[in-house]
Amino acid sequence: MTVPTQSGRPTPQIIPRSEHNISRAHISKSALKVLYRLKDAGYQAFLVGGSVRDLLLEREPKDFDVATNALPEEVRALFGNCRLIGRRFRLAHVRFGREVIEVATFRGLGTEEEDSEGREVSAETGRLLRDNVYGGIEEDVWRRDFTANSLYYNIADFSIWDFTGGVADVQARRLRIIGEPEARFREDPVRMLRAARFAAKLDFEIDAGMAALIPGLAHLLDGVPTARLFDEFQKLFQGGHALEGYRQLRRHGLFRQLFPATAEWLGPGGDAREHFLEAALANTDARVADGRPVTPMFLLGVFLWGPVADRAAALAEGGMSDFQALALAAAELSRELAERIAVPKRFSIPMREMLQLQVRFDKTRGARALVFLQSERFRAAYDLLLLRAAAGNADKGLAEWWTRLQSLSPGEQRRELGLERAGEGKGSSRRRPGRRRPARSAPAAQGDQPLA
Ligand code: ATP
Ligand code: MG
Repeated sequence: MTVPTQSGRPTPQIIPRSEHNISRAHISKSALKVLYRLKDAGYQAFLVGGSVRDLLLEREPKDFDVATNALPEEVRALFGNCRLIGRRFRLAHVRFGREVIEVATFRGLGTEEEDSEGREVSAETGRLLRDNVYGGIEEDVWRRDFTANSLYYNIADFSIWDFTGGVADVQARRLRIIGEPEARFREDPVRMLRAARFAAKLDFEIDAGMAALIPGLAHLLDGVPTARLFDEFQKLFQGGHALEGYRQLRRHGLFRQLFPATAEWLGPGGDAREHFLEAALANTDARVADGRPVTPMFLLGVFLWGPVADRAAALAEGGMSDFQALALAAAELSRELAERIAVPKRFSIPMREMLQLQVRFDKTRGARALVFLQSERFRAAYDLLLLRAAAGNADKGLAEWWTRLQSLSPGEQRRELGLERAGEGKGSSRRRPGRRRPARSAPAAQGDQPLA
């Protein structure tokens, strides 16, 4: 851990209540209870991290974290509804119904190695080590990532303690890392992804010096546990700022680190392929804005679709059936993805199915088409088909046909699929798309589309 003394102040600038806009009316009741009880017991108690930043920006914080000089056991003694988690560095979770307030004792400037799994056990036995696990606020602040995330709101007098110039950076909408950027990114490469995420979510500019370093350090993400990358993937793409998050990742050379096959397929971008991805991301953001659920499996599938379709096309050229080729390509690419991002099976399995099922849209007659229409996975596969069609990557007429099929009554559907005779001649099978097309990834010219 580098101690970034030159860049920061050893003592905070204290901004009194009269000079900032953070009002208790915007702090959760539960967080206030925790802060006041700690203060009344004689401890220091601060709101810290993202909540202070968001309140300064007049945004609604996602959660409220508290930092204190009370030791975890002391915190627990104050709250009935409290659980300690973590081993070496213990955190207190104080629960109020569904809301959990995380209370962390100020951390000291122990080395990162001391934090590693191996040392945790031995640390439990020794009081001595404990002494540099915890520290004062003036140590705690330097472990944080960005200046905007390093502000402390003091419940004792409602002032803000700013050691790093964070308030000015928030006001300038500037994302600046604390200390020496390269060392801080090497310490924890996930901070590069966090930079992209905060820039997207807060509409901040990444400090130029820091931005210049990121492409050259992006490879360090190779060494990050895959489970952590899945967590970050979710925060990046399910928080309502997926499109801008994606653009930040692309701009800073981070996207290829997470999705190398997709980056390869995209090339320099700016074309129909990129529009396909961007449309999916915009769609996800719109869902989040409407409070509708989003699943990681859909976007992961969208990211993999291009490379999967290309690989499937190559396999089919080697003589494999379209169906087998797509299944094999989907399996291979999701395995390759799993080497980087630990996607839980409950997402990766349906994702693969959604990709494989794209070939089923070509079959517009017969019982199998009906089974497909009625299957659990149809909806996601169909949503992907729509995106493909909009990007010129699938037959628009075919997508329209499937759209219309869903609006028909069960009897009409059976007739349309050729399972019953059209009888009275009211059948609409004229509008059936004419011929099968293999899955293909390159946006097709529209001219040859068999529009009915
Ligand atoms: P969000 O709004 O996404 O919750 P946040 O700033 O609260 O943003 P968290 O991931 O909840 O982010 O982390 C809380 C705080 O812990 C951060 O504000 C930052 O001070 C510190 N922190 C979190 N992750 C890191 C990291 N990888 N390196 C250094 N400090 C970190
Ligand atoms: Mg947070």
